[in-house]
Order: sequence, then C-alpha cells, then structure tokens
Amino acid sequence: MEKKLNISPLPFGKTPYIVAGPCSAENLEQTLETARQLKNKGLTLFRAGLWKPRTMPGAFEGVGSKGLEWLLQVKKVTGMKVATEVATREHVELCLDAGIDLMWIGARTTTNPFAVQEIADALYGHNEMVILVKNPVTPDIDLWIGALQRINNAGITMIGAIHRGFGVGANHMYRNAPEWHIPIELHRRFPNLPIICDPSHMGGKREHVPTLSQQALDMGFDGLFIESHYNPSCALSDSEQQLTPDDFQILINSLVIRRQNSQNEALDALRCMIDECDNNLIDVLSKRMSISREIGKYKKEHDMQVVQTSRFDEILKQRIMQAHEMGMSDDFMKKIMTIIHQESVRQQIDILNNKDKS
Ligand code: PEP
Ligand code: MN
Repeated sequence: MEKKLNISPLPFGKTPYIVAGPCSAENLEQTLETARQLKNKGLTLFRAGLWKPRTMPGAFEGVGSKGLEWLLQVKKVTGMKVATEVATREHVELCLDAGIDLMWIGARTTTNPFAVQEIADALYGHNEMVILVKNPVTPDIDLWIGALQRINNAGITMIGAIHRGFGVGANHMYRNAPEWHIPIELHRRFPNLPIICDPSHMGGKREHVPTLSQQALDMGFDGLFIESHYNPSCALSDSEQQLTPDDFQILINSLVIRRQNSQNEALDALRCMIDECDNNLIDVLSKRMSISREIGKYKKEHDMQVVQTSRFDEILKQRIMQAHEMGMSDDFMKKIMTIIHQESVRQQIDILNNKDKS
C-alpha cells in the first residue's frame, strides 16, 4: 500500500491561496515596487525566484543569494510572506538563515531524486517550514509523489503540490500541457494534500492565465501561483507570461469560486443515471472482448498475426468520425479506442498462449 503523507494545513488562512510575484527578483527596485503594487491589490504571499534553473545556458540565471536581502525588505515593508525556489542544500540553508517563509522545489529539480533528497536532508529539523513541490517536467506522478514523500520524511508536514503542467513539443497551445488527470489522481490518492495551480508556467503567455486559473478553481485546486512583474515587457525571464499588478487584480476579481459540494436530489438522480451508463459500458466492453477472443481463436487456427494495423486504422478513423459528429473530441475517441484495442490484443495473445499450452 502507498505510504500516507503526514499533512498539516498550510498557515496561509483560507483557500484559495494566492501566491504572486515576479519570475525573478532582478534588482531591489523592481522587487520592492512589484511587491508594493501587489500588496495594494490585497496580496499576502509574494514569490520571486533567485536561483533560476534555465533550460539553456546563457539565459538570465537569477541574482542568487544577494536577492535574499531584497525579499527581506519586501517582508519588512509590506508585511507579506515571501517565497523562493530552492534547488540545492546551500539554497535551503541560506533561506533558513534569512527567514524565508515558504520554499518551493522547481519542476526540473523534482525530476531528480538525488537533488530532492539533498533538499530534504537540509530541511531536517525545520518542521516550521512550508514546502511546495512542483510537478516534474515529465508526466510521472510517482516522481512527484516521491519528492513529496522525501520532504515529508524529513519531518516537514506543511507541504503542498504545485501543478505547472508537463513538458510538450513546441506545437502545443500551452507552454506546458495541463494533463489535468494527473493532479486529479494526486488529489484522489492524497485528499488532504493542498494542490495549487501555476497557470503562468502552464500557459506560457499572459492571455492564457485567466482561463487556466478559472479551470483550476473549477476543478477544486486550492490556490494559484501567478507570475506578476511591474513591467513585464522588460522582465529578464518569462516576460511573455507575467501579468502587471493591475492585470493581476483584474484576474483575481474575475475569478468565480464555486462551492465544493452541494448535494440535492436532482444531482443524485443524474448520478444514478451515470452509474447505469457505466454499468452498460462495462457490459458492452465485456461483450466486445468475448467477440475479440473468438477472433483470437480464428487467427490462431489460420496462423494470422494478432495485430492487424490496417483493420485497427480503419476502426479508429470510423469511430473518431462517429464520435466527432456526436460532439466528442477526436483525441478522446482516439485514446478510448487505442486502450480498448490494447486490451483486445492482450486477450488475444492470452488465447494464443493458452492454446499453445493445451
Ligand atoms: C518558477 O516558478 O519560476 C519556475 C522556474 O517554474 P518551473 O519550475 O515550473 O519551471
Ligand atoms: Mn518563471
């Protein structure tokens, strides 16, 4: 059985938690002025990266430890709590010494268990710290859970996850694909774990941030992690995705916060109908598999290969077309048919093997 996480509530008041601030602290003036403006919009949790894990060398890699001083100024002047990203033992130690309130582990770091363990070891004994763990770059939920467990094993119970999407090719509409089913699965496995969405790194462009933020809240996320810079077009990193503090305020005011649960008879009745549909679906799938096994027997008798790609290709095209006409996405039907086909192939291979044994 999967190890449980020992989770304490985050000390940030009520949800949705809103963390915002520039991708990077660039200088004292930019950090402090952005913080002041955001504070005036009601923000209480300020973020700014000091050590920037850039994909390519030569890009702005952050100001490093001298920016800690600027975050402390933000804390003093605005009263906000301050957050930054840590990737090494040294970063953690410097942040602990400085009195940073919240540290997050970035997507590239979560990918590496050695790095996460080093961070966990440095945090040992600092149970008062709050640590948020971003998803790894690849859509690997176990790597994400593993990182959360390493931090939790070090005695840190005020933990949370940040969903920032997963690396995809350049053709995707978003910088990082949401793959919402992954954080939803994380929530299913750890219902008490706070999960915050980072629509800025997910969208990659500021115009995507409002839609992704609302989608995340509609799906029950516990907060938002948003990049905001007082002059985004001059930002030294991620300039295309940062919001001005004014746009940040417009976004926050536009968010609709829906109730988590409100049971009534009409909803119960609809859910009964869904259960019935699912039962029918399982019956139909089982019928389809038994026909598929018959085909498996035929293929065995006639020395045919199990996988006939031309037939599958034909099925796929046909079903996608039918589903499309009924308002379902092509991608959805492709996934469903592919997974059904995989199970059919598995069952036919079983048939062949059993026959071989007999
Ligand atoms: C960041 O939050 O500034 C950052 C580097 O994000 P990510 O780790 O999600 O790429
Ligand atoms: Mn960034």
